[in-house]
Amino acid sequence: MLKRKTDVLVVGGGPVGLFTALQLAEKGVEVQVLEEQWRAASRSYALALHPASLSLLGELGIAEALVDRGNRVESVGFYEHEKRAEVKLDALSGDYPFVLVLPQQALEEALRERLEERGVKILWNHRIAGLEQQGDSVSAHIERLSKESTGYSVARTEWVVDKSFEIQASIVVGADGHRSSVRRLLEIDYEDQGDPHVFAVFEFVTGAEALHELQVVLLDDSTSVLWPMNDGRFRWSFELEEGLEKTDPRVKSRLLVQLRDEPFPHVTQEKLEELIAERAPWFSAPVEEVLWSAAIRFERRLASSFGVGHVWLVGDSAHLALPMGIQSMNIGFREAADLTWRIASVLVNPGSAALLEGYGDHWRSEWQNLLGLGAKLRPREDTDPWVAGRAPRIPPCVPVSGEDMGVLFRQLGL
Ligand SMILES: Cc1cc2nc3c(=O)[nH]c(=O)nc-3n(C[C@H](O)[C@H](O)[C@H](O)COP(=O)(O)OP(=O)(O)OC[C@H]3O[C@@H](n4cnc5c(N)ncnc54)[C@H](O)[C@@H]3O)c2cc1C
Repeated sequence: MLKRKTDVLVVGGGPVGLFTALQLAEKGVEVQVLEEQWRAASRSYALALHPASLSLLGELGIAEALVDRGNRVESVGFYEHEKRAEVKLDALSGDYPFVLVLPQQALEEALRERLEERGVKILWNHRIAGLEQQGDSVSAHIERLSKESTGYSVARTEWVVDKSFEIQASIVVGADGHRSSVRRLLEIDYEDQGDPHVFAVFEFVTGAEALHELQVVLLDDSTSVLWPMNDGRFRWSFELEEGLEKTDPRVKSRLLVQLRDEPFPHVTQEKLEELIAERAPWFSAPVEEVLWSAAIRFERRLASSFGVGHVWLVGDSAHLALPMGIQSMNIGFREAADLTWRIASVLVNPGSAALLEGYGDHWRSEWQNLLGLGAKLRPREDTDPWVAGRAPRIPPCVPVSGEDMGVLFRQLGL
């Protein structure tokens, strides 16, 4: 049942918002989730769970079932025409020394099921439209959306606001993605952290056996990654030269693919085969069917602050990273785990509100460090010169974060 008053209102029912809500519910905190869309994502965008994310999901008791459904990646191979270097994930400590490749919708489904068991309400078709912080609480202005058919000759469906109301919350968490309304309502800047990169992304089926290696192809002027999924499925993401999506006939800017609620140029199977032949000739599995493909522009951004007072940001609402190492979503889970224990403490003891400031300072500084890490990595004297020359490009490509990065970098002599 919709409640007009709650301890925590989580805005956004993507993976990080659902995870945040579940962490809160497990700590006995009353929570409600708002989601603008009318249903969950139907495709796998962020498709891999880092070892640290699996440990957090393990603490919630849902990792094992997910592990059974996904493909384990046990190593990362770095390539240029052939394999040039490798790191093994079993060097990591923890219960899950591997990366799990799993469609985003499978993760979201597991989180939603557990939330339902905990009695947490997800308000689909509801969006946040205003926020006012008053003393120790926040008044959130909510709009409910409903479908309306319009048009003379051909009926067209539009989403319209059919009801507005307020929810009072002690704390609001903005997990509403890169176009975050919560961030905008707080007037927090989403600062550029470098040029965007365009990737041609293909998810496709082959008859090949499962592979347990993430392949990162570092050519002089492009980075590409192969994520091996289950059931002979793969995802190749090839970085494209700037502007290519406008000039290459195999990148069809006028033929748009709708992914979530955003349109992206379609990329043909012919282009996939050409890119594989050019950049990854060792990948010989014939492409049987392309499930989806698009040219996607990935930006790098960081919020100038992770929140203020009783309103805080997690996940893509606070940062965007390049797609190779699936870092934005996975670090989002670590942020959520940290933010939620702080929230639970502040709700019990309102005098400890400085804990929330500590959250913002800690994670902004972790992201600044991560974004500048490439320039700081120092090769050893015995480091393979190929690796040493590419060191600045390696941090965004590894599917780990925090202390786990050091363990992998040491294997590369960095
Ligand atoms: C096509 C595509 C491909 C991608 N590929 C990769 C990849 O290869 N590697 C990678 O690392 N990442 C990739 N990503 C990004 C990845 O999906 C995100 O990092 C991840 O989903 C972040 O999770 P989140 O929960 O923070 O935000 P989101 O998943 O963006 O969830 C935010 C949710 O908030 C909802 N919302 C927004 N505004 C409001 C509002 N006002 N009120 C209520 N609800 C609202 C949205 O509907 C959405 O469901 C891709 C994204 C897309 C779209």
